[in-house]
Amino acid sequence: MSATIHLSPYQLGPAARELRKEVRGFLDSEREAGTFTPRCDAWMSAPDPAFSRRLGARGWIGMTLPTAYGGHGRSALDRFVVTEELLAAGAPVAAHWIADRQMAPSLLRHGTEAQRHRYLPAIARGECYFAIGMSEPDAGSDLASVRTRARKVPDGWEVSGTKVWTTGAHYAHAMVVLVRTDGSPDDRRSGLSQFVVDLPAPGIEIRPILTIDGEHHFNEVVFDSVVVPEDSLLGERGAGWGQVTAELAHERSGPERLMSTVPLLRAWAEQLPYGPGDAVADRALGRLTARAWTLRQLSLSVAAALAEGRSTEIAAALVKDLGSRFEGDVVETVRQLTDAEPRRGADGLEGLLAEAVLHSPAFTLRGGTNEILRSVVARGLGVR
Ligand SMILES: Cc1cc2nc3c(=O)[nH]c(=O)nc-3n(C[C@H](O)[C@H](O)[C@H](O)COP(=O)(O)OP(=O)(O)OC[C@H]3O[C@@H](n4cnc5c(N)ncnc54)[C@H](O)[C@@H]3O)c2cc1C
Repeated sequence: MSATIHLSPYQLGPAARELRKEVRGFLDSEREAGTFTPRCDAWMSAPDPAFSRRLGARGWIGMTLPTAYGGHGRSALDRFVVTEELLAAGAPVAAHWIADRQMAPSLLRHGTEAQRHRYLPAIARGECYFAIGMSEPDAGSDLASVRTRARKVPDGWEVSGTKVWTTGAHYAHAMVVLVRTDGSPDDRRSGLSQFVVDLPAPGIEIRPILTIDGEHHFNEVVFDSVVVPEDSLLGERGAGWGQVTAELAHERSGPERLMSTVPLLRAWAEQLPYGPGDAVADRALGRLTARAWTLRQLSLSVAAALAEGRSTEIAAALVKDLGSRFEGDVVETVRQLTDAEPRRGADGLEGLLAEAVLHSPAFTLRGGTNEILRSVVARGLGVR
């Protein structure tokens, strides 16, 4: 593995500025029409299929997919622009987020022609949503120890086991499940495979897990001897570990890993007086803005590297570690410096603050905990 992180600073050009203007115009008109109010962490917790379909109609989902699969053949950097505008606005994008971010690239890379044609055009239209079936009750950080098993049977594969913390499984149309097809848990990384399983399905029980605010975002998904067709295997049998690792670079490096609380930061900044005001608040805002900008450059450079097919596992882990800590620091700073009281369901700063406080414990856990990410970075840099 490389002992350095190769990233070039990336500048977006005039075409990106035009696109940004277009997205902002769309978001302004949606807000004016009252279709959404900004939310913190909306990419995870605010699904709105109608909104996703409107984005799909504008060509802002599946942007980098080839046109042959219903995509738009645009660059990863165009996608980056759209993504960060949606996040900054706190728009309700959770329904399609996982499908667009990581399952579409994974299906494009590893899927059969039949799988690509079945899922990719619907993803790009904002009509097909995916869940990620990696974590299990005894396999979170130590993902290689998954116990869910798929056994070859005459008409396909029989899947048994339990997945947990499965975001959006209750509205997803399909789920990519990491399972053991060969060997034993002692074999660790070899013998793992991925399957695309349509939801809902007989034999698959999706049980809600409520978060601290009483909302339903994730689930426990139990597979009880579910037979899935032969052609649900994604990629190669036994190559699941490598496929999942590549997927995680998409999962960890995007602007959502640093922008979940930007709607809160904006709402707070808008309340601060222009000109000389509260020097402590001004300094804190300046520091947070500078950090946001630096992290954004890092995330942008990873997007560019991913688009060029370069390995970005270490840099992606870095984005998620630094970015998710930033998201939490925004919440703490605003909480300390504002007189607003967090109030669930309220408009503006009070509502955003309540939401951010309740969601922030998850920031450093989801997508791999920060302790694990630091191990990835340290190992990648050759630290023993
Ligand atoms: C909001 C949210 C959404 C999620 N969505 C999904 C989803 O859609 N699909 C999915 O598959 N999973 C999902 N997850 C699960 C997430 O990926 C796991 O929670 C995460 O990987 C940690 O696993 P765990 O919860 O089993 O914790 P554990 O692995 O039990 O870790 C507990 C603690 O021990 C620490 N620890 C563990 N091992 C080490 C080590 N080797 N060195 C140092 N410290 C260590 C961890 O850092 C952590 O602090 C989601 C989680 C959250 C919070």
